[in-house]
Amino acid sequence: MYDFLIVGAGFSGAVLAERLASQLNKKICVIDKRDHICGNAYDHYNNDGILIHKYGPHWFHTNSDDVFNYLSIFTEWIFHDHIIRSNVNGKLHPFPINRNTLNSFFDVNLKSEEEAKEFIEAKRKKNLNPKNSEEMVLSLLGKELYENFYLNYTLKQWNIHPRELAASVTARIPVRYNTKECYFNDKYQAMPKYGYNKLFEKLLAHKNITVLLGKDFFEIEKEIKFDKLIYTGAIDEFFDNCFGKLPYRSLEFEHETLEREYFQECQQVNYPNENRFTRIVEWKHATHQQSEKTSIMRELPVAYKKGREKFYPIPMASNNDILKEYQSEAEKLNSVIFCGRLAEYKYYNMDQVIARSLKIFSNLAKN
Ligand code: FAD
Ligand code: UDP
Repeated sequence: MYDFLIVGAGFSGAVLAERLASQLNKKICVIDKRDHICGNAYDHYNNDGILIHKYGPHWFHTNSDDVFNYLSIFTEWIFHDHIIRSNVNGKLHPFPINRNTLNSFFDVNLKSEEEAKEFIEAKRKKNLNPKNSEEMVLSLLGKELYENFYLNYTLKQWNIHPRELAASVTARIPVRYNTKECYFNDKYQAMPKYGYNKLFEKLLAHKNITVLLGKDFFEIEKEIKFDKLIYTGAIDEFFDNCFGKLPYRSLEFEHETLEREYFQECQQVNYPNENRFTRIVEWKHATHQQSEKTSIMRELPVAYKKGREKFYPIPMASNNDILKEYQSEAEKLNSVIFCGRLAEYKYYNMDQVIARSLKIFSNLAKN
């Protein structure tokens, strides 16, 4: 008999398991339908001995001291500015857009933040209340940068026009007038020193935690005795899609190892205007691994269908009504907690789901 059954061994489930076991001495069973822990952050050494991420690049970043200090119990870090460039018209430009991007893309020579700001002011289509991703970028950067760096990437990534997507999607990307290069503005930008999987092994190592892999909740639900359920899978699946299926976006990955030390100049190059893939990732830049070989990965957005993973909830207004129906059903269930990117249908980063799990834990600890 377990105090909690936790469905999903990703960050949401693993953090809650660790806290409940170590702080409240609860007995926990964590199950995952995959054959590994770590959720979408799963990393492993490939046949060529290079540490790669199975489900796309996971660059850790956070502004939260609480999240960073908590994870630091389980890992040391490689502090690292996440550097990303965008290949537009065959040329690599700094991305997010900064003063150097303006200089290289428009072939100008802006020398200060003030000059860069003035330059953009003349291009942007000011809008105090951008209602979608297109309006958001046009209001920050204007038409040329939108069309070259955002429009096609967004169409390819979501198969939805930026006009239909929430403004928050493209608002994830900062805009800078200085020459700072890192992808995120957060206080902490780092990679777990020995990888995510090792971090998860430590999270789940407590004697009160049992981990069962390759087990689908809906198939073994009745075999496990538990008091409360923490569910981190897709919310519509939990209710047997009774209000209809929520849409998700999926991905395919092309992994390749090359007999050379490096392939590209930084950990990620975006290809907004390429037909098939959105980005090429080269792991060694972020993990600082030394090897004569290098592994890269092309990421191809695809429709979700059975047999593929539900990687992205789709942030568009038309999905809100059906989501609300599921949320109101979820609220009626006192002994089930829904948390995480799939269970809340929210485009959360890793630090956000960790913060969310820590918050849920502190509420549970009060009761
Ligand atoms: P997940 O990691 O998805 O874990 C949920 C787990 O539940 C899965 O392992 C699944 O197998 C299991 N499960 C589902 N249903 C069942 C069932 N019925 N029975 C048993 N098990 C089940 N975040 C960042 O901060 N930085 C990044 O650079 C970044 N890059 C990303 C790149 C990609 C391509 C993707 C898809 C996401 C990225 N993220 C990034 C987001 C990050 O992956 C999520 O925030 C985080 O993994 C969410 O954790 P979770 O535990 O909620 O969900
Ligand atoms: N985006 C874009 N061009 C880029 C990178 C991102 O248009 O070169 C847009 C796109 O809509 C994407 C969103 O910004 O879905 C968020 O990008 P992010 O890199 O945060 O995506 P993730 O890593 O979550 O896939």
